[in-house]
Amino acid sequence: MNPRDFDQHDADAPIFDRAAFRLSKEEAELIDKARRFGARVLAPRAAQHDRDATFPIENFRDMHGEGLLAICVPEDEGGEGASFKTYCLAAAELGRYCGATALSWNMHVCSTLWTGALADDLEMSAEERDEHNARRSLHYKRIVGDGAIYSQPFSEGGPAAAGAAAFGTEAKPVDGGFLVSGKKIIASLSGAADYYGVLCTERAEGDAASRRNTLYLAIPAKADGVSVVGDWDPLGMRATVSRTLLLKDVFVPEEEMLMPRGVYFRAATSWPHMFLTLSPTYMGLAQAAYDFTVVYLRGELPGTPPVKRRMYPTKQIALAEMRIMLEQTKALWFQAVSEARAEPTKEQVLRAYAAQFTVMENANALAAKAIRTCGGQAMLKNLSLVRIYRDSRCGSLMLPWTAEICLDRLGRESLYEPGETDG
Ligand SMILES: Cc1cc2nc3c(=O)[nH]c(=O)nc-3n(C[C@H](O)[C@H](O)[C@H](O)COP(=O)(O)OP(=O)(O)OC[C@H]3O[C@@H](n4cnc5c(N)ncnc54)[C@H](O)[C@@H]3O)c2cc1C
Repeated sequence: MNPRDFDQHDADAPIFDRAAFRLSKEEAELIDKARRFGARVLAPRAAQHDRDATFPIENFRDMHGEGLLAICVPEDEGGEGASFKTYCLAAAELGRYCGATALSWNMHVCSTLWTGALADDLEMSAEERDEHNARRSLHYKRIVGDGAIYSQPFSEGGPAAAGAAAFGTEAKPVDGGFLVSGKKIIASLSGAADYYGVLCTERAEGDAASRRNTLYLAIPAKADGVSVVGDWDPLGMRATVSRTLLLKDVFVPEEEMLMPRGVYFRAATSWPHMFLTLSPTYMGLAQAAYDFTVVYLRGELPGTPPVKRRMYPTKQIALAEMRIMLEQTKALWFQAVSEARAEPTKEQVLRAYAAQFTVMENANALAAKAIRTCGGQAMLKNLSLVRIYRDSRCGSLMLPWTAEICLDRLGRESLYEPGETDG
């Protein structure tokens, strides 16, 4: 651990200033806690986990101590009760200091946000609501009390994670629960999570597979039939350790349902901003690329010679362009995360696609420009900019809202109303 990494970030201002972005005191305090934690705890550990592609389990243990594992667990269940927006702003602050931890933390937090504030917004019968509240309590107790870590493997390498088909991982109903079999690829926290929050299709013998029958189950990592295979040596986000998860006839008791039957499908269709939750990490990386450039051009980056480069007009113009891109990204993204809710308007959904596209593409564009502007010595592997550049490259590939899918939907849905054809 290099304490200078902390010194470098000690005085970082919040990405979203409390007064300028009209945050409440409670929101600002929680986001500030994440920022300080990121600077003090995540930044000094990030380089080594990135180099070795090891999972930063100690970050998650420390997050438990700080209450951050339970940031979206409702207050009456012992958590911080953060809203969607507060979570997104806090996650951006973590992403600034360690993209891989922020992205993995997102997978964990979604298991509480989707079952918590988001599920509270969805229509459910009284019976479904009672069942859901009783079951989620079990998960929240594990997180708040024991520091249990949940992951979120849904990708399978085919059209399911893009929302175009039913999940190939299937849950066969049996006495008292399900037998689950399937394969999940690029599953962050593989081997580190205590529970895998698996999306799968409930399918009895002879039934057709349907997206409406998607189940969201918490599968204990230690259950018989669970294994993690393959290696993990990617370009970026190396510390997410996103290996392949295999499930073979894993018995999962009914009480491990993270949502009642049919509710995940309802959430995916009526609360689409749930898929914007991968973007905060990259908002943080965009800010980090900009911050690095300012400190570097001023000749103040710890561990590098105190050479100033800020007096050159070309560097000033490049930084000005970076600032403009950063402000545009922040403004659009803040608007999109602020208006997340059940049954958003068409305009709000299109804005969410635009925000996701913008953050994912601009984070990497800013990092690339930072390298060009700072110069050759800035791309040495011992500096954080190289990691920011590599980590930010993966954002636009993340399903279900890849940059391509966002473009595709934005174009089509701007030109066609639902049900309209040219035929
Ligand atoms: C660092 C990192 C961490 C990750 N962590 C997780 C995780 O924890 N959990 C998880 O579930 N996933 C995770 N992912 C996976 C990620 O969300 C994507 O699912 C994955 O990158 C897709 O890889 P692919 O090569 O199968 O992509 P693609 O081939 O692009 O997509 C897979 C399939 O989606 C469909 N598809 C793709 N593009 C389109 C399009 N434009 N229009 C229509 N259909 C399309 C196609 O059927 C295609 O075969 C992670 C990825 C990265 C890079």
